[in-house]
Amino acid sequence: MTPAAPQPKIVPESEPPVGRRLAAIPPSGTMAVGRRVRELRAQGIDVINLGGGVPEPAPEFLSRPIQFPADLNAGGDPAGEPKLRRAIADKLSRDQGLNYDPETEIAVTIGAKQGLYAALLAMIDPGDEVAVLDPAWVTYAPSVVLAGGTVRAFRLDAARGFALDAPALEAAITEKTRAIVVNTPHNPTGHVFTAADLEPVARIARERNLWVISDESFERFVFDGRAHLSVATLPGMRERTVVLQSFSKGYGLIGARVGYLAAPGRIASQVARFNEQVLTSVSPFAQFMAMQALAEEPQWTPKLQAHYAMKRDITVAAVRALPGFDCHVPDGAFYVFADVTRLGKSSAAVVDEILDRARVALTPGSAFGEGGEGYVRFNLAGPVAAIREGLDRLKRVYG
Ligand code: GLU
Repeated sequence: MTPAAPQPKIVPESEPPVGRRLAAIPPSGTMAVGRRVRELRAQGIDVINLGGGVPEPAPEFLSRPIQFPADLNAGGDPAGEPKLRRAIADKLSRDQGLNYDPETEIAVTIGAKQGLYAALLAMIDPGDEVAVLDPAWVTYAPSVVLAGGTVRAFRLDAARGFALDAPALEAAITEKTRAIVVNTPHNPTGHVFTAADLEPVARIARERNLWVISDESFERFVFDGRAHLSVATLPGMRERTVVLQSFSKGYGLIGARVGYLAAPGRIASQVARFNEQVLTSVSPFAQFMAMQALAEEPQWTPKLQAHYAMKRDITVAAVRALPGFDCHVPDGAFYVFADVTRLGKSSAAVVDEILDRARVALTPGSAFGEGGEGYVRFNLAGPVAAIREGLDRLKRVYG
């Protein structure tokens, strides 16, 4: 009998390598502020959080006992619960005159974030480019990168309240561009895109045969009689637009993590396929809650708008009274984007100093792209008392 060949000795020399894709994207700049607030509060430090926040008021039904139908305890339809998709299609038709087939053109997602990522996977190939506005919500650019694409930023016009700058958008489009990302009402600046902003987007998208991803999560937050306008309603745009929506903002249902998208079937069906393979479905329990939120909606929209316009007015007045701070009046969303260039420091340094000296958390404009440098974002989602206290603290330090 021949002796067994000696086994090679396996000596792990180091840890197994990790992939490059996730390592290439930064953590979320908005969520980083929340983490910092939690750390400080855990140390017993009293911090006013105007970095992020849970939109108030909470939906009424959350204060009542909730009975879930037992048949929801199952893997749901990958595109979303059929009843919810019908209710969403009714809402889009009623509010925006946008008609989508709930069977083939609506997909329910985990917040707008997953809808964004799945829609990008459905429309781009590695190496394709996506034009993304700047400043912009922190998650668009990393989602493009995660989906294998390259970001081409186009600056909004700060001098005109962050209106669309058509030549800047045009300059960002190349042979490789597949899509343009827009967002109205706009996070972080509060600009509400008008027909004058969106018509050039539509024209360029039609001329260059591009998709448009239109994040409309703040749809209900429009003030002073303004109306929300979706680029999908412009001529020839419904067939090339993906409307992204969330239940976290206008419905205050942030903990359910439910959003949806409305898009031509070529995209919506692919998002449903993504859901089938990656999630099975969005939690049917969470979708049940989204149904309740949709049913409550008509009663509280005007009240909600008046309430948020009031929070905006308090904040704008207080910010403008602070030496070194200035801001335009936002027409929508629930943010005030204050210009702090006169303080002579980076926006991250200003935010650190404010947290340190005033114990108020804000988000640095640089988190939203190069176009956000020189600004700090106030998030007005939370209660008036906290906003007033935060502004008082700033006045004590900077006033
Ligand atoms: N969209 C909100 C914000 O910009 C929530 C945080 C996030 O998901 O980025 O503060």
